[in-house]
Amino acid sequence: HVGSEVRVFIRSRPTANFAQELIQYLPDGQTVSVHQRKDSRKGVVNNQLSSWSFRLDGVLHDVSQEEVYGRVGRGVVLGALEGYNGTVMCFGQTGAGKTYTMTGATESYKQRGIIPRALQEVFHEVEQRLDHTFSVHLSFLEIYNETLVDLLASVRGCPRVGPGGMVVVEEAGGGVSVRGLSLHPVHSEEEALNLLFEGEMHRIIGAHALNKNSSRSHCILTVHIESRSRTLSDAKYVTSKLNLVDLAGSERLGKTGSEGQVLKEAMYINKSLLFLEQAILALADRRRDHVPFRQTKLTHALKDSLGGNCNTVLVANIYGEASQIEETLSTLRFASRMKCVQMAPAVNEHTDP
Ligand code: ADP
Repeated sequence: HVGSEVRVFIRSRPTANFAQELIQYLPDGQTVSVHQRKDSRKGVVNNQLSSWSFRLDGVLHDVSQEEVYGRVGRGVVLGALEGYNGTVMCFGQTGAGKTYTMTGATESYKQRGIIPRALQEVFHEVEQRLDHTFSVHLSFLEIYNETLVDLLASVRGCPRVGPGGMVVVEEAGGGVSVRGLSLHPVHSEEEALNLLFEGEMHRIIGAHALNKNSSRSHCILTVHIESRSRTLSDAKYVTSKLNLVDLAGSERLGKTGSEGQVLKEAMYINKSLLFLEQAILALADRRRDHVPFRQTKLTHALKDSLGGNCNTVLVANIYGEASQIEETLSTLRFASRMKCVQMAPAVNEHTDP
């Protein structure tokens, strides 16, 4: 798939208490309508409903991990092997299924998520495509409280980051990269999975009332691919970056009863996701010529993936219980804005000097 718009999917976490009177998936497989009781915030008992309808690229309701990968991930991964940058990211409140979608359930092979399936497919293709030579590297970045953390910095043989630490830098071609982030050569699915596991172990832990640790930071696993044709003897080659992004929980501050360190984390998360929304709004408005990418590390690091040279897919994860309807609505609003963002994917071709 090489499209010019961000592709956006809704995925709903299964729940026995699904609010079917408030959330409806239309038979077209693309539309969600949401109803909210008017005045519910003022505590007035009132049966009037406000309704919204969101049309996206697909609704993944009661859909297996394999099918999710097929619809969301595969096209982006195959594009990356041809030299197109790709990004798959998950957005939604804590507990809505972002990690399940990206990483999967660790105890079950069948339930593995997009990241392990993408790594498997990359190496499967690399083995099949005998007319090309590939070189694959991984990097794993965490953004925690506006600080860039290299989750693979302690891997043996990893060069030390120089003074000044890591910074997001703009490249000559208009893309971005993170200077100082370690790149690790990988030759097999197994090696890649080992690095993924190692990186996950280094994520910042912060206990949290809603639930788990991984919700407090943003993580970007990047597969850097370079490929050369064996048959063409010229010096041309193509490169691409495949970003697999697990964003922090999008729930609003105040709900989680946080204080101290957790409050500080929540403020940074709210700030980065707010700026992400602002960047998306600016991108969706074609008259705007200034997009505030540099306001947070997250939007700056994701600049390519947001309106740049990239095939981008967003999965908006929702938790369809009545008590979560505000968060569901805010996730769907974000998703439908993201759908308006135009992308400009192009093969990254290079020639040796
Ligand atoms: P998040 O990363 O958004 O905070 P998780 O991925 O941790 O949410 O999901 C919360 C819980 O719900 C986990 O126990 C996860 O296994 C389960 N879960 C989420 N989505 C699904 C799904 N589509 N099918 C089965 N279980 C799911």
